[in-house]
Amino acid sequence: MHPVAYQITPADPAAHYFDIEMTIEKPDRRGQIVSLPTWIPGSYLIRDFSRHIQSLTASTGRSPLAIRKLDNHRWQVAPCARRLTLRYRVYAWDLSVRCAHLDMTHGFFNGTSVFLRAHGQERQPCQVTISPTEATRHWRVYTSLRPVQRGRNRTQIHRFGTYEAPDYDALVDHPVEMGTPHVETFTVCGARHEMVFTGVLPNVDFRRIARDTAKICEAQIRFFEPQSQRAPFLDSADHYVFMTYVTGKDYGGLEHRASTALVASRQDLPVMGQAERSDGYTTFLGLVSHEYFHTWNIKRIKPQAFVPYDLSQPNLTSLLWIFEGFTSYYDDLMLLRAGILEENDYLALLAKTITTVHKGAGRHKQSVADSSFDAWNKYYRQDENAGNAIVSYYTKGSLVALALDLGIRNATGNKKSLDDVMRLMWSRYGRSFYTGRQRGLEEDEFAALLKQATGVDLRQAIDAYTQGTEDLPLAALLRKQGIALEWKAERRAPDIGATVRATPAGEAMLAQVQENGASHLAGLSAGDVLVAMDGLRIEAATWEKQLARYQAGQQAAVVYFRRDELRNTTLTLGAPANNKCELTRSGAA
Ligand code: ZN
Repeated sequence: MHPVAYQITPADPAAHYFDIEMTIEKPDRRGQIVSLPTWIPGSYLIRDFSRHIQSLTASTGRSPLAIRKLDNHRWQVAPCARRLTLRYRVYAWDLSVRCAHLDMTHGFFNGTSVFLRAHGQERQPCQVTISPTEATRHWRVYTSLRPVQRGRNRTQIHRFGTYEAPDYDALVDHPVEMGTPHVETFTVCGARHEMVFTGVLPNVDFRRIARDTAKICEAQIRFFEPQSQRAPFLDSADHYVFMTYVTGKDYGGLEHRASTALVASRQDLPVMGQAERSDGYTTFLGLVSHEYFHTWNIKRIKPQAFVPYDLSQPNLTSLLWIFEGFTSYYDDLMLLRAGILEENDYLALLAKTITTVHKGAGRHKQSVADSSFDAWNKYYRQDENAGNAIVSYYTKGSLVALALDLGIRNATGNKKSLDDVMRLMWSRYGRSFYTGRQRGLEEDEFAALLKQATGVDLRQAIDAYTQGTEDLPLAALLRKQGIALEWKAERRAPDIGATVRATPAGEAMLAQVQENGASHLAGLSAGDVLVAMDGLRIEAATWEKQLARYQAGQQAAVVYFRRDELRNTTLTLGAPANNKCELTRSGAA
C-alpha cells in the first residue's frame, strides 16, 4: 500500500458531486491533521476550496472517529493507531481551469480542489484510483499522472484505474479530464503530446490545431535544449496533455508540470475548409504557446518564494514580471519562430501590447515589481478603477522582456540576447528541479544572472524598468534594431476619456473612466448610463457615430442615469488621443 491513497468517483454528475475516499496508513498518533489548499499555483488568489467539501467523516476499521475543525481549511481527526479512512464529497460546478467541474458529459478536477493533504506526510508517495460509476463506465481518463506499473494491475492508458504521484506537490499538479472528448496526438522531439477537446465542436479543424501546436512545442523544446532536444516534462510524466474545454466565449489557461488546462471560445478555433488564420485563432495559439512555455518558466524555473509552495496562504514574490511577463513575451515570439506568424503580424501583436500598457494611467502609479507582490489583492481583484490604479505584470512584464532583449542585442551586436538568459536560468534552476536539489531564483538575483549570461550589465535599467513607473524607452531601443515606433490616433472622434459598453438593453454604459479624462472632469463614473447628448438619445450601437459629429473642445449637455437617479452634466470633449502604437521595420538598422 502507498502511505497515502485516494479513490475518487464521479458519483453524482447531475448534482456535480465527486466522492472521495482517502486512506492514511500511518496517521499522526496525536490526531491526524488534514487540509485543503486555499489557492492553486499559477492563479494568485485565495479561493478557499474547502468551501466545496461536504460531509467529511473519518473511521478506523469499523470505528467512526471524531473530527474537529481547526479553522476554515483544516480538520483534526481523533487519535488512532491504525489505518485512517476519510470520506467526503466535493461539489464541482466551476467551469474554469482553477477548480473542478462535473456534469453528465464530463468531469474535470485539479487536485487542489479534491485531495486533502495529510499534514506531515506531504513528501510521501501517494496513489489515486479513479473509479467510474455505472453511468460513466464508457468515459475515458486523460491526465499526465503516471499509471501504476506494478504486476498485472497496470492501468491501461486512458482507462479508469490507479495512478501514482511521488508526493502531494506532484499529486495536485496533474489535473484530470474524463469523458468522451475529441483527442489529437502528436510526437515532437521524441515526446508524445495529447490534445483533448471537450465541448460541442462541429466541424472544427482539429488536425490543423495539432499541426500548429506541434510546431510551437518543437520550437520551444529546441529553444531551451538546443543540444539534447529533450522535452522538460519527461522528468515527471510519460506525455504532455493539453486539456481544452471549449465554450461560447471563454478564454484562459493554467499551467502544470506536464499538462495545461485551457478554456477557449469556439469562435477562436478554425473550421474545416478555412484557410486563413483568424485573429481569434492566433489568440488561441498564443495561449497554447504561453502555457507550454510555463513548463520551463515557473513550473521548473521558479522564484525562491515558491520553493516549496505553501498552499495555506499567499506566497509573495516581486518577480512575476519574469515568470508571467517573460512568458508573455515569448508566447507570441515563439509563434514567429515556429513560422506561424510573419514578421509583420508579430510586430502588430507587439504594438497592440504596447498600446494596452500605454492606455492605463496605473502604469505611472505601480511598478511591475509591486504589481507582482500585490497580485493577490490587486491584479486578481480588479475593479472598474484598475486601469487608473495598477499595471499588469503580464503586459508590462512582456515589455520589460522586450526592452531587456533589445538592450542586450544592442550592446552585443546581436551576438547575445534574452534567450541566453533564459537558457542559463533553465540550466541553473530548471533542468533538474524535480530530480535534484530544488532551488529558486532569489528576489534580487536577476541582474547578476543576466550579466553572467550575456556579459552586459543592465542592473540600472532593470531597477528602473521593474521598480520604477516611467515608460520604458522602447522607441530608442527598437530604432537600433531598425524598427520605428510611432503613436497614432485610434479614431477621429473626440475623446471622452472613458470606455463605453452596451448593456443587455442596448444602453451605453461607462465601463471604465480614465483619470483626468473628459468624463472624469465632467463628474461621470463607471456604471453611469448615458441617456442623451444635446437632446438626442444615446444608444450603444450608434454612440460612436453620434460622437463623431463633434469636434474636440466642444461642450455637450449630457443626461445620464446613476443607478436610478437622472442627472445631467456638461462634457467638454477632448482631442483624440495619440495612443495607438504602430511598429514598422524601417530597414536601416
Ligand atoms: Zn501565465
